[in-house]
Amino acid sequence: MLIDTHAHVNFSAYKNDADEVIKKSLDNDVWMINIGSQYETSKKAVEITEKYSQGVYAAVGLHPIHLNTGLVKIKFDEEESSFNSREEDFNYEEYRELAKSEKVVAIGEIGLDYYYKPKTKKKLELFKEKQKETFLNQLKLAKDLDLPVIFHCRMAHNDLIGAIKEFNTSKIRGVVHCFTGTWEQAGEYLKMGFYLGFNGIIYKLDLKEIIQKTPLEKILIETDCPYLTPPSAGVKRNEPVYVRYIAEEIAEIKKVSYEKVAKITTENAKTLFKI
Ligand SMILES: [Zn+2]
Repeated sequence: MLIDTHAHVNFSAYKNDADEVIKKSLDNDVWMINIGSQYETSKKAVEITEKYSQGVYAAVGLHPIHLNTGLVKIKFDEEESSFNSREEDFNYEEYRELAKSEKVVAIGEIGLDYYYKPKTKKKLELFKEKQKETFLNQLKLAKDLDLPVIFHCRMAHNDLIGAIKEFNTSKIRGVVHCFTGTWEQAGEYLKMGFYLGFNGIIYKLDLKEIIQKTPLEKILIETDCPYLTPPSAGVKRNEPVYVRYIAEEIAEIKKVSYEKVAKITTENAKTLFKI
């Protein structure tokens, strides 16, 4: 069996066939965690879990690109939400209520994202400050509920590492999803006890050395579906069931068997998310 630790079957890319996609996945012994990116998609992820007795879990959180900073204009991916993709302010109590649901296994995806950013220095500082403040607030929520964290980070690893250290690393556990940083940054996360998550981005960027050096005991596999489809899938839209290609690729890079990658990464996911 495998666990897709980062899926978005809660997004509108699956509005017509989410149940079939999930059934196909479970029939193939692939469990999944659907990850929220804002309140509506977090709520949807929780609602989906209620239909399944086992194998489908949720994470809730406000992704940094959905944070209302009032400082940048962001073009949202129309596939992301079945409602309106929007910018929102983080409401601690609302997310806390959602997170209390039985099959919510993490707070995420949360973090820092400097891909879209304001142009002036003053605005950029404010922008980074606002992202950091919201991130720390959500770390607090994870700590209060004793849940692990799913980190999203784009072009901001050093700031994210700094913010986590400021918060107090001993209080949190989690995974850096879709890791694309340097080996030095990977080392910092590993030293703090975090896992690194790998997905189809490994077909686009050269992460071989990092995957070779990261102990299998610290690796989680994911799809980030509907995005980042492995080329071997031969379709446009990604699905949890294609997480096996990621396991195969990691086995190849680390020169170990597929069975070993499947077994260890599944154990890792079960340990971190207590499922
Ligand atoms: Zn994601």
